[in-house]
Amino acid sequence: MAPKDSNYDASDEAIVLDSIRKWLDRDVEPYAMELEHSDTYPVEMVEQMKKMGLFGATLDPEWGGLGLSASTYAKVVTMISEVWMSLTGIFNSHLMMATAVQKFGTQEQKERFLRRFATGELRGGTGLTEPDAGTDLQGIRTRAVRDGDGYIINGTKTWITNSIEGTCFALLTKTDPSADPPRKGMSMFIVEKGPGFEISKRLVKIGYKGIDSGEMVFKDFRVPADNLIGGEEGKGFYQAVGGLELGRINVAARSVGIAKRALDESVRYSQERKTFGKPICQHQAIQLKLADMATRYEASRLLVEQAAVAYDEGRRCDLEAGMAKYHASEAAIENALEAMRIHGGYGYSKEFVIERLYRDAPLMAIGEGTNEMQRVIIARQLIDRNRI
Ligand SMILES: Cc1cc2nc3c(=O)[nH]c(=O)nc-3n(C[C@H](O)[C@H](O)[C@H](O)COP(=O)(O)OP(=O)(O)OC[C@H]3O[C@@H](n4cnc5c(N)ncnc54)[C@H](O)[C@@H]3O)c2cc1C
Repeated sequence: MAPKDSNYDASDEAIVLDSIRKWLDRDVEPYAMELEHSDTYPVEMVEQMKKMGLFGATLDPEWGGLGLSASTYAKVVTMISEVWMSLTGIFNSHLMMATAVQKFGTQEQKERFLRRFATGELRGGTGLTEPDAGTDLQGIRTRAVRDGDGYIINGTKTWITNSIEGTCFALLTKTDPSADPPRKGMSMFIVEKGPGFEISKRLVKIGYKGIDSGEMVFKDFRVPADNLIGGEEGKGFYQAVGGLELGRINVAARSVGIAKRALDESVRYSQERKTFGKPICQHQAIQLKLADMATRYEASRLLVEQAAVAYDEGRRCDLEAGMAKYHASEAAIENALEAMRIHGGYGYSKEFVIERLYRDAPLMAIGEGTNEMQRVIIARQLIDRNRI
């Protein structure tokens, strides 16, 4: 796989998936366990992902991206998550920033950033969440105040993926804190690390190892006015939520990867492990678990496909993406736990992959809008689409 300026045709899904599979087998699977347990940033894998064009996976070929459809992208994400979910966060959070610029940026901003985003030369993520505001984004406090040809930013962002290893972020701020409703006073900037922009701490997590999550502090940080995405104040909230459908499809796709790996490991192990003179897969109690796991996985995969197709066709898909994210993340959590039960004591061992799936899965219920919020979104859309 390589960016579009080679002879490679990104529309050929089979080629994309084949090259990802080979890379995973050769360069990821043999090393993932060690990097996971030492919580080490996968420097070499990031270089390989750059070469494969993953940092521009969904960006337009005009900017050096692969131009993958959401459907193909979701399959890529699922495949990688089966092997090591953490890797998908390194390019997905980055792509959310890049997509905001591609979708809402001025022509000058596109020229300045998108090619460097696509190659991975400039990498980063999205800074929305704050210590006191996650789901309720309109409650953020980070301020950007106009000052001559720039803005002065003060505030704190937390839980930001890639904040330590990355250098460039899409940052949600308030430019008019008195706006009513508050979302109309919100603006998004592209910020690059410099004086006044510091990482105050690395956050320690139960899972999602290898990838960095940190707290970013802005103290009188100056950003050029040219970095205001779209060049107009008051659009930041819409720009932030405008990327969430693709973000949710991504988290759903990651969840499918976790649910599938848990299933595959269990199908294999249950044929190897014997109790009372037969493989445990011949005990009905285990068969019921396998059947439930397989059904949850397939249903999740299909929901992701449905949402991705709707997205690719340009249809409104918050209901579909919400259902996919909600169902698939719950499936990942349940499959990981059932896989642990099926593996008995070995499921609790760090020598097997199951405990990693078990630690990684719950994040899928939190990121890109919690599952409580997904259900609210699904219900609102249901009513909206079926008004009497
Ligand atoms: C590993 C990790 C990586 C992350 N990466 C990023 C990143 O790169 N960038 C970024 O900006 N953020 C990131 N986040 C933050 C993440 O998006 C938030 O944690 C998430 O949006 C939830 O916000 P919160 O943690 O503040 O929970 P809260 O908003 O405080 O919610 C707490 C609980 O209340 C529920 N709740 C809240 N409001 C309602 C309501 N109206 N109705 C019903 N229930 C409600 C929630 O569902 C949840 O159960 C990351 C988080 C983690 C753990």
